[in-house]
Amino acid sequence: MNNSRFNKNIEKINLDWTTIQSEIKVKLGTDIYESWIRKINFVEEFNNYLLLSVPTRFIRDWITSRYLDQILQTIKKHKKEIIRIEFKIIDDDANNDEKSIDLKKHNPNGKISFIKDSYLQYNRIDPNKRFENFLIGSSNKIAFEASKKVSENISYYNPLYIYGGVGLGKTHLLNSIGHKLNESKKVMFISAERFMYQFVKSIKSNDMVKFKEYFRNTDVLLIDDIQFMNGKEAMQEEFFHTFNALLDKGSQIIVSADRPPNKLSRIQERIKSRFSGGLVVDIQKPEYDLRRKIINYKINELINLYSDNLNISEEIQDFLSSKVTTNVRELVGAINRIVSFSRIYKKLPSLSETKIILKDLLNLNDNIVTIDSIQTIVCKFFKISKNEMLSSRRSRYLVRPRQTAIYLTKILTTKSLPEIGREFSNRDHTTIIHSVKTIERLKEKNPDMNDNINKLKNIILYNKENEI
Ligand code: ADP
Ligand code: MG
Repeated sequence: MNNSRFNKNIEKINLDWTTIQSEIKVKLGTDIYESWIRKINFVEEFNNYLLLSVPTRFIRDWITSRYLDQILQTIKKHKKEIIRIEFKIIDDDANNDEKSIDLKKHNPNGKISFIKDSYLQYNRIDPNKRFENFLIGSSNKIAFEASKKVSENISYYNPLYIYGGVGLGKTHLLNSIGHKLNESKKVMFISAERFMYQFVKSIKSNDMVKFKEYFRNTDVLLIDDIQFMNGKEAMQEEFFHTFNALLDKGSQIIVSADRPPNKLSRIQERIKSRFSGGLVVDIQKPEYDLRRKIINYKINELINLYSDNLNISEEIQDFLSSKVTTNVRELVGAINRIVSFSRIYKKLPSLSETKIILKDLLNLNDNIVTIDSIQTIVCKFFKISKNEMLSSRRSRYLVRPRQTAIYLTKILTTKSLPEIGREFSNRDHTTIIHSVKTIERLKEKNPDMNDNINKLKNIILYNKENEI
């Protein structure tokens, strides 16, 4: 930092600020010295207090809250009349044009290059996630419009806080904003996890000031998944100050989270209240029409991209739209599975095949699978009684159905091995593992077995005897 314009003052007084700084350096260590203390310039000495300067309010607050006592103690050793320190904020940037974005030229040894590198590495805006391919429905319209608004008219809503469950399009929207503004503004897009990582890293490598300056130099700061920011007081402190500094200078801040601000845990109240102070919008689960629209759009996109023969029937599209309801990511995942199926088997799946390949994505709430229903269906299928299935008899005609029922319970319910064991007349969990493995093996080499399992799955899951 530029010391020269204050040197004339040093001559006038007894107190030698440079000496004091070096003593503080010994006391607090090089790291703290380089990050903070070196930034302090001497301005003037009065009867009983000292006027010092720092380049920003943040540095002043940080130093005041952490190092002021030690600084004062050191000063008092030289001049005990001094009983307090005042800080003045003098922004050196205007005078010596040390713009933080231009840090490289002031760092010939490349010490801060990690910030540059990480900028390139982690500030990648995904060009495939744009406003143009974000489909709108009643569940996401408000979030979409707010995002559009801030990308057209910076700090119209500031901060903008978008929340909603996983896979509903938050990252897509943040990306779209970043993509749009990137042409004309300095945009920083970072996940809260990455922010924490960079923070810790810059403390370790003694680059805290640059970290701070770097973030404060953006016109648009997009922070994804803020719920992952936790604990670490110092980091929240930094975040809070960055946040305020950016808002003060009219930069736009956009935050995403999986929950509303007041539900964030481990985040300081004052930060939450700052989040609530702008516009808070949510994204709901997609409604049927939006799901239908997304399926159609994604299928067409794939057809255009790969010229695949993807004439997925209306029936299947309807089925997907009504059954895959949780989020958009799963919807996209469902389409991808259908595409993989059609590439492997060189045909589009039938409806019953679709049900099987998407089993885990389908909303089975209204069709809860119980161990009892599995046992009943399997017994009926193999024409044995439930007593026989649950007995300890080991005749072959009972062993296979029993193992099949155990296998189906394992894959179609969330029961643990001991729980399954209990429901099958207190069998040991090793017996359960053995049964599951046996059926898996037989399924591999015996097409009849595989067929039976698929038929049974269909009956259990959909109460239908469709073949596959
Ligand atoms: P989140 O960040 O909320 O977990 P993402 O933004 O990562 O969700 O969205 C998950 C996937 O769904 C992405 O591939 C995204 O492009 C897609 N997606 C989400 N919402 C929409 C939408 N409304 N229109 C088109 N694609 C969407
Ligand atoms: Mg996301």
